[in-house]
Amino acid sequence: MTREQVRSYLEYYRDLGFDSIYRPKIDLAVQATTEERAPVLPTLGPVSDTLESIRADIGECKRCRLCEGRQNIVFGSGNAQARIVFVGEGPGADEDEQGLPFVGRAGQLLTQMIDNTAAKEGIPIHRGDVYICNVVKCRPPENRTPLPDEMEICGQFLFRQLVVIQPKAICVLGATAMKALLNPKEGITKMRGKWHKWRDIPVMITYHPSYLLRQYNQQARREAWEDLKKLFHFVYD
Ligand code: URA
Repeated sequence: MTREQVRSYLEYYRDLGFDSIYRPKIDLAVQATTEERAPVLPTLGPVSDTLESIRADIGECKRCRLCEGRQNIVFGSGNAQARIVFVGEGPGADEDEQGLPFVGRAGQLLTQMIDNTAAKEGIPIHRGDVYICNVVKCRPPENRTPLPDEMEICGQFLFRQLVVIQPKAICVLGATAMKALLNPKEGITKMRGKWHKWRDIPVMITYHPSYLLRQYNQQARREAWEDLKKLFHFVYD
């Protein structure tokens, strides 16, 4: 409910003659909507934050165990003024080797999804026009899902990246990034294809490209394409 809606409710009851209201104590960490159920948000960066200062703060990071097996920190790549930021889970082997996000098989599919959807919809953008990054910046061993503490430690840098770029929309790729940004009660099949919000920035959730590579049934792919169409028209129309 917005401030204006709350005000008009209160005015309505005041006009009816009520002069006080009962306000139950609210536990901020346990609220109803997806956005509000997000994990307690870490402090974001200084006002003068830039992508460069965030990268400098990460440094040769040893804040969690993921540093032990990494070759390169994968910070993010693309247009620093992008209108869309894509957020994946964490680097795989190819990304770890090259220090760049989504350059392996899943990355090639993501490139196709972005470029082809944009071309079909008459939207003049390519992969280089968006910004791409991950929840964790170091490759988890055996490509396992990042653990909660790893996501929390590294998530602060993701949040700062998003705040600095201030995209018109965020595209969350897969369940791990969805958990890091929104921590919803529902699973990805329920959450995808609809608009959500992270700190007032609209968020579109879709399937992770690695999942789409594994899927034999074409349904998930079709749905992911629909999600991107919705995202691109919202941002560029
Ligand atoms: N999967 C991800 O989530 N991120 C990458 O950068 C590559 C694969």
